[in-house]
Amino acid sequence: MYDAIIIGSGLGGISCGAYLAKNRWRVLVLEKHSLPGGYATSFKRGGFTFDAALHVINGVGKGQNIYKFLEWCGVGDQVEFLKLQYFVRFIFPDLDIRLPSGDLGEVRSVLEKSFPQEKKGISELFKEAEIIYNDIFRFFISKTPFWLQLPFFPLLYRGLFPVINKTGAQFFNKHLNDEKLKATLIGNWGFYGLPPSRLNIICSVFPNLDFFKGAYYPKGGNQVMTNSFVNVIKENNGEVVLNSEVSSIVIENGRAVGVVTRKGEKFLGSKIISNACAEETFINLIGKEKLPERFLKRMDKMERSISLFCVYLGLNEEFTTKLENREDHAVFALNTYNLDEDYRWSMNCEADKAGFVVTLYSNIDDTLAKGNKFVMGIAQVQGFDYWRNYENDYLKGNKEEYNKEKERMAMLLIERAEKIIPAISKHIEVLEVATPLTLKRYTGNTDGAPYGWANTVDQGSPLNRMSQKTPIKNLYLSSAWTFPCGGQTPVIISGYRLGRKLSGR
Ligand SMILES: Cc1cc2nc3c(=O)[nH]c(=O)nc-3n(C[C@H](O)[C@H](O)[C@H](O)COP(=O)(O)OP(=O)(O)OC[C@H]3O[C@@H](n4cnc5c(N)ncnc54)[C@H](O)[C@@H]3O)c2cc1C
Repeated sequence: MYDAIIIGSGLGGISCGAYLAKNRWRVLVLEKHSLPGGYATSFKRGGFTFDAALHVINGVGKGQNIYKFLEWCGVGDQVEFLKLQYFVRFIFPDLDIRLPSGDLGEVRSVLEKSFPQEKKGISELFKEAEIIYNDIFRFFISKTPFWLQLPFFPLLYRGLFPVINKTGAQFFNKHLNDEKLKATLIGNWGFYGLPPSRLNIICSVFPNLDFFKGAYYPKGGNQVMTNSFVNVIKENNGEVVLNSEVSSIVIENGRAVGVVTRKGEKFLGSKIISNACAEETFINLIGKEKLPERFLKRMDKMERSISLFCVYLGLNEEFTTKLENREDHAVFALNTYNLDEDYRWSMNCEADKAGFVVTLYSNIDDTLAKGNKFVMGIAQVQGFDYWRNYENDYLKGNKEEYNKEKERMAMLLIERAEKIIPAISKHIEVLEVATPLTLKRYTGNTDGAPYGWANTVDQGSPLNRMSQKTPIKNLYLSSAWTFPCGGQTPVIISGYRLGRKLSGR
C-alpha cells in the first residue's frame, strides 16, 4: 500500500512525487514510456543529445522565484542552470531585436531605444506587470486554502484581481499604442499557445517577466533536470517504474483506491495523482459513467492548447567553425506583427508563413554534442486538425503520405531558418522530426497538446482553471491540464502545490 501513486512521470508528476517523498510519503510513479519526463526528456542520436521539447526555462537562477520551488522539491542544487545572455531575439519584417535576460532595467532600455515615443507607456507597463507578477507569485506560494482566500481575493491580490479576466492584448493596449512594440513584448506567444488577444493575463505577464529576469538552460539537457526529481523520489524510498502503463484507476465507493496497469498488476494507494492528460484520466482510466454529468459537459466544451512541429538537427564541425552567431539561443522569425494572423497560419499549418523559432543549443551548452559539433532545433506552433487527416493511416503504420508531408515541412523550415543561420542544410549529420502526432503518441496528451487546456481567459485563471482536486475523492491532478497552466516551471508549481496540500507541510 502506497501513500501516493502517481500516473505519469512528466515534471508535474515527479515534482509532486519528490515533494511527497521528501516528506516521508511512500511514493510510486508509474510511467508508460521507457524514459521518465514526458515532454521533459532528451534523446541521443549519432552522438548528439536533443531535448524533445525544452528551449528555455524561466526563473531558475539561485535565489530566483522558480528556484525556490526546485529547492522545496529537493532538487535545488542538483542541476546547473546556464544563464542565457538574451532571453530571445525577434526577427520581424523590419525589426531585429534582442531582449536580454537577467535585468529588467536592461530590457526596458532596449525597448525604449527602439520605441522612444512609448517611453512612458513602457515604464507604466513594467510597473503594473511587476505588481501583477508579485501577486501571482504570492498566490502560488500561499498556504491558505483557495476557498478561504476566495472571499478576500480582491483585497489580498489588489494588483491581480482587476485584471484577472483580462487578456494580454487588453493589458498591452492599456499602456501602449505601437503595434510593433506590443508584438515585440510577446512575439514568443507560441510558448503559451495563444496570441495575446486570447491569452489570459497570468501567461501574458508572469512567465515572460520571469524570462526577462532570467532565462536559462539546464546543462546537459532537459533529461538531467528530470532525473534530478526522479533521484529525490528514489533516495527517499520511492519507486519510479518505467514501461508501466496504467490502464484504469480503481474506484470503490466513490473513492480512488488504486490503479491497474496494462500488464494486469494492481497497486493500492491512499491518494492517486494523475499527471496524464485530463481526458486520458477521466475518460479512459475512469470512464464517463463514474463522473458527474456537469463535470463532463464542462470538459467537453474546453479547448485544448495548440500543438508543435519540431525539427532536431545535429550539425558537423565545419558548420560550427563557420558559425558567426555565437550569442543567440532562441531566435524567433515572424512574418507579421499581427499575432492573430500568425496564430491563424499556425493553426492551419501554413509552414511557409507562420513564425518559427530556431534554437542554437550548442551556443550555451557544449556538452550536447561531441567535439565541435552543434545541436540546433527548429520549432513551429501548429494546429492538430491538419495532422488529424493523417492519423488513421499513421496509427495503422501506413506512413508514406505522412512521412512525405513531415519531410516537406521540415525542409521548408530548414530553408527558412537558413535565412537567419546560413548553410544549415550542407552540414546535417542527424535530422529527426516530430509532428503533433508524435507528441501525442509519446505522451498520450490529446491532440499532442503541450500546455494542457488552452490558456484562455475562460479556462486559465486561478478562478476557473480545472482544479487539482477532482470529482472523485482521493484523486488529484498535477500537470499542464490543471492549475496553474502548461510549461515546465508551471507544472513544477502544480506538483509542489499539490504535494504541500496533501502532506500538510
Ligand atoms: C515541443 C515543445 C516545446 C516546449 N518548450 C518549452 C520550453 O521551452 N519551456 C517550457 O517551460 N515549456 C516548454 N514546453 C511545455 C512543457 O514541456 C510542458 O507543458 C510540460 O513539460 C508538461 O508537463 P506535464 O507534467 O503536464 O506532463 P507531460 O510532459 O505531458 O507528461 C505526462 C506523462 O504521463 C505519462 N502517461 C500518460 N498516460 C499514462 C498512463 N496511462 N500510464 C502511465 N503513464 C502515462 C506520459 O508518458 C508522460 O510521460 C514545450 C512543450 C513542447 C511539446
